[in-house]
Amino acid sequence: MKRRIALVTGGVGGIGTGISRRLAKENVFVIANYVIPGSEGPFVEAMRAAGFSDAQFAVMAGDVSDFKVAEEMVAQLIAQYGPVDILINCAGITRDASFRKMSLEQWRSVMSTNLDSVFNVTKQVIEGMVAQEWGRIISISSVNGVKGAFGQTNYAAAKAGILGFTKSLALEVAKKGVTVNAISPGFIDTPMTQAMPDAARSAVIAAIPIERMGVPADIANAVAYLASNEASYVTGTNLAVNGGVHLYQ
Ligand code: NAP
Repeated sequence: MKRRIALVTGGVGGIGTGISRRLAKENVFVIANYVIPGSEGPFVEAMRAAGFSDAQFAVMAGDVSDFKVAEEMVAQLIAQYGPVDILINCAGITRDASFRKMSLEQWRSVMSTNLDSVFNVTKQVIEGMVAQEWGRIISISSVNGVKGAFGQTNYAAAKAGILGFTKSLALEVAKKGVTVNAISPGFIDTPMTQAMPDAARSAVIAAIPIERMGVPADIANAVAYLASNEASYVTGTNLAVNGGVHLYQ
């Protein structure tokens, strides 16, 4: 079987690194995207330390909130490595504030990074997947996109938008061998949640039925399944990976 190629946006972040490592372990060639120059350094070191070589992964800079940049980045990587078989839309940021205090900038940056990016990058790879009659689009949403969260009207709206996008695109390409799914993590121990105050982290853990935060590998395991041939009959779903938090909705 041909070796698959995966693009992981935000692939050098906390969850992205877990996903990249896991896919590389599954013999997928992984291209991990990032935006801040230098943020790929620790990722590359960690991948090498874990025994992965340049033949198994690459990194690529590009601001996926910008359509033109996403277009150029994906064109370059396809020319360099070949068509993208698996796309993981994982890039994301938070800019929390109660709605009454939220600025237009906080709204726009979260919407463009978390939701527009899904359009911007998926648009570049979908035709190739349809043409080869095999593809996997997996977007990282959030439990907060399903249940809402205080101070996150921007983030919850963007993450809920991913779910509507996923179900609609799944319908459009179902007959073409391309599956489109979302994963909604709960609280995963990464730089994003490490930025929370200690009291907020403790309150979060107390509310998780499994009584711990998740780790990136919990999400990576779900990605590995949805990206596999075994998941060819799973499309348009939102897989909750959150230690049971969604049971309180
Ligand atoms: P993280 O460690 O902060 O990683 C986020 C990644 O997104 C970073 O690699 C960052 O790149 C990248 N990124 C941000 N803006 C970008 C842009 N414009 N273009 C390209 N890449 C960009 O956060 P994380 O916790 O791993 O989160 C990963 C995803 O999971 C996000 O979509 C997040 O919303 C979602 N999620 C996380 C949790 C959680 O508890 N951690 C829960 C639910 C959902 P740089 O390193 O270059 O900045």
